[in-house]
Amino acid sequence: MSDVRNVIIIGSGPAGYTAALYTARASLKPLVFEGAVTAGGALMNTTDVENFPGFRDGIMGPDLMDNMRAQAERFGAELIPDDVVAVDLTGGIKTVTDTAGTVHRAKAVIITTGSQHRKLGLPNEDALSGRGVSWCATCDGFFFKDQDIAVIGGGDTAMEEATFLSRFAKSVTIVHRRDTLRASKAMQERAFADPKISFIWDSEVAEIQGDQKLAALKLRNLKTGETSDLPVTGLFIAIGHDPRTELFKGQLDLDDEGYLKVASPSTRTNLTGVFGAGDVVDHTYRQAITAAGTGCSAALDAERFLAALA
Ligand code: FAD
Repeated sequence: MSDVRNVIIIGSGPAGYTAALYTARASLKPLVFEGAVTAGGALMNTTDVENFPGFRDGIMGPDLMDNMRAQAERFGAELIPDDVVAVDLTGGIKTVTDTAGTVHRAKAVIITTGSQHRKLGLPNEDALSGRGVSWCATCDGFFFKDQDIAVIGGGDTAMEEATFLSRFAKSVTIVHRRDTLRASKAMQERAFADPKISFIWDSEVAEIQGDQKLAALKLRNLKTGETSDLPVTGLFIAIGHDPRTELFKGQLDLDDEGYLKVASPSTRTNLTGVFGAGDVVDHTYRQAITAAGTGCSAALDAERFLAALA
């Protein structure tokens, strides 16, 4: 059995590395589980990040994450590129089990496991991510000035993305599997009223086409089976996100969509000594800077919690 650490951080995106940096600088010697395949988090899968403050000319996503990682390590964070496969967060001493079955113990745990955007599951989707295919209009819309864009989905997020993108785009086509939208009335009306937005109903994406860059979509009408081509250089997939909270079910309070509940504006969960930050908590903003910001809050909350124990 390992020594009892002050704090274990699960997850290594902007939230996890920021929590690691702050707790390391507070001499708490954090142990960080970075994840086995996806260490560095969501930004490892993108190219230019132009909206993280401090980088006047932008920075590549993987470079930003390497910098965050190195900065946390410089102050003594211990980083392990492995997944946590089980947790017991209920007692005063929490336990976290890695893939080798080793049990790690800590007085506080910070959860920053992020969320996974839902994918269409098509062959070219990952290869063209950051090369025309995106899941975030706020992040990438600016790159698509005067271009033809498709948005996939029929909920509030899809309408919001489409309405936002129409500021930059030449045209925005919303492709939806059904003949009615799930989005709220207000969001629907705003999209219907926008002259740049048009709709293709009852249809799904059958193929994402392009070599180094997105060139077109092949669509399939689900009622008639007919296929058609839609030439676009931008594809925004807005069919939802799944927070990574499977591990915590039954111990931590989750909301209806599975996001971790915290006593906002703090990062405290329903269990003493357990804190949550970043996209695993956040339905709304889902940005690197907001994840880093709440990662900082979680570190400060954990620091105060540990100080009160001493
Ligand atoms: P994540 O970055 O998702 O990191 C979570 C980490 O937790 C992962 O490393 C994962 O491996 C780890 N993890 C999960 N489960 C476990 C476990 N059981 N054990 C160990 N580790 C685990 N935002 C911007 O501000 N600007 C942009 O330009 C931008 N571009 C984007 C482009 C793409 C393609 C995507 C997908 C997102 C983009 N975003 C952008 C959004 C931004 O990436 C996220 O908001 C941010 O990364 C969330 O940070 P996080 O730390 O909460 O989670």
